[in-house]
Amino acid sequence: MGEGSLNNFVHTMIDEDIKNNKYQGRVHTRFPPEPNGYLHIGHAKSICLNFGTAKKYGGLCNLRFDDTNPSKEETEFVDSIMEDVKWLGFDWDDRLFYASDYFEQLYQFAVKLIQKGKAYVCELSPEKVREYRGTLKEPGKESPFRNRSIEENLTLFEKMRKGEFQDGSKVLRAKIDMSSGNLNMRDPVLYRIQKSEHHRTGNTWCIYPMYDFAHGQSDSIEGITHSVCTLEFEDHRPLYEWFLKELEIYAPRQIEFARLNLTYTVLSKRKLRALVEGKFVSGWNDPRMPTLSGIRRRGYTPEAIRNFCDMIGVSKSNSTVDFAMLEYCVREDLNKKAHRVMAVLDPIKVVITNYPEGQTELLDAENNPEDASMGSRKIPFSREIYIERDDFMENPPKKFHRLFPGGEVRLKFAYYIQCQEIVKNADGSIKEILCTYDPETKGGWSSDGRKVKGTIHWVSAVDALKAEARLYDLLFTKQNPDEVEEGKEFTDFLNPQSLEIKTIYVENTLKNAEIGQRYQFERKAYFCVDVESRKDALVFNRVVNLKDSWIKIQGKENP
Ligand code: ATP
Ligand code: MG
Repeated sequence: MGEGSLNNFVHTMIDEDIKNNKYQGRVHTRFPPEPNGYLHIGHAKSICLNFGTAKKYGGLCNLRFDDTNPSKEETEFVDSIMEDVKWLGFDWDDRLFYASDYFEQLYQFAVKLIQKGKAYVCELSPEKVREYRGTLKEPGKESPFRNRSIEENLTLFEKMRKGEFQDGSKVLRAKIDMSSGNLNMRDPVLYRIQKSEHHRTGNTWCIYPMYDFAHGQSDSIEGITHSVCTLEFEDHRPLYEWFLKELEIYAPRQIEFARLNLTYTVLSKRKLRALVEGKFVSGWNDPRMPTLSGIRRRGYTPEAIRNFCDMIGVSKSNSTVDFAMLEYCVREDLNKKAHRVMAVLDPIKVVITNYPEGQTELLDAENNPEDASMGSRKIPFSREIYIERDDFMENPPKKFHRLFPGGEVRLKFAYYIQCQEIVKNADGSIKEILCTYDPETKGGWSSDGRKVKGTIHWVSAVDALKAEARLYDLLFTKQNPDEVEEGKEFTDFLNPQSLEIKTIYVENTLKNAEIGQRYQFERKAYFCVDVESRKDALVFNRVVNLKDSWIKIQGKENP
């Protein structure tokens, strides 16, 4: 999985090219992030598609940073992007590139366009450029600078490069067609003056190519065969093709696919950045964030993400995927991999009155009922234990099969216990529950064939470790927080209950739990040891609940 194993329309197009011997049967893709933020789950779709496609065809995939905008880019982002791509399980080998490495070449490309009379230096203000562009209904107006001589353009462009003009005072524009039905073709800006330091080229340049002028040519320089990008670039394709034709250079084939949208979250670096900068979350790697660093910290696995990307497929029309489907993939993967342990999230004390005081015995507990090869462990049992508050009811309804006065229940891996008495606090709340156990039911099975309907989890009170649990929920309360609502910001729809912190008790076998380790807390949820966890102060992130709402949505049976 994650290797583009499922066929999709992109692969159909590639098959066609291979059949026609276009590109001599080569398949060479690239993942081209702009290093202006951390990668999110939407990028994972593009990574799986680009790297997965190369893998499927025995081709190559480059990692290229499209770092043409000096003001928003930082090395922190470059580093995190590389870490995330690797974490997802992909490798660019020695093919790490930067669009900024092509600045000189791109400059020469621009000079070539000027020499061919296909580009000019324009001095209209940014507002005027916009105004002259026209609208979808009305053609644009030609710039008064459009018919400058080639010589004058060459001189001015060189002076732009030398830093002789102020930021924003001049731009280089392509000379295409101000009345084109495609706004991208109405003399787009190719270069702007911006005297700011670039994360890699420092102060070498004070003019920077626009993304549109850099992107397609970078693909061409790298010999990319299939430039896979999202649908919003469909309208840019004629422009990219125009550049390649006028520059008389190698032309990749651009293929657009629909970007991933997910319910209850936002997938735009700008918005994610606003959440970080506005301190709505603890950082880019806050476990509630849809960033790859956030979901990694939360405990999602790369296999789950790759399976998710396979499952959603690749299509040509925009749609929104249910967040529950992502959780389904995480749950499926963790079900196979995670050790089961017992933890009580909302404890109430049970005293087993006929169990010897001061005694502790070790009981066998299997680590994963789905996979015997994962072995078993020894867990301590003693006279006082914690159970989940809601596993007990003083006045239970008919179908309640857990613990209640006079009722008998199985303690998982331990014994049958029967509730004899409730001890209350002065305010009427329950202080503890007094039970007796049946020594003949060791391991949780009775020798006389007596059956109990309920099985509950527990931890030994003296042995259990106190830990912190961070219970995460959806980051937004609204299905589509991107939808514009009058007078509202997307941050108005943040879920105030997206994080609940609890003190819990976990079995002591977790005392050496390592950061990043994932567990299933029996009957509760999957949890992962957080980066802030310490040996004497364990912290667990709730990865995903055990219950599967997506299965319900799909109307399927639980597998
Ligand atoms: P954002 O809108 O989050 O800033 P972007 O498209 O500007 O995203 P880039 O760094 O340019 O971010 O993206 C790198 C690659 O990832 C591009 O090829 C882009 O098309 C792809 N990509 C970005 N977002 C998604 C998404 N939601 N689904 C699929 N692919 C995406
Ligand atoms: Mg972008």
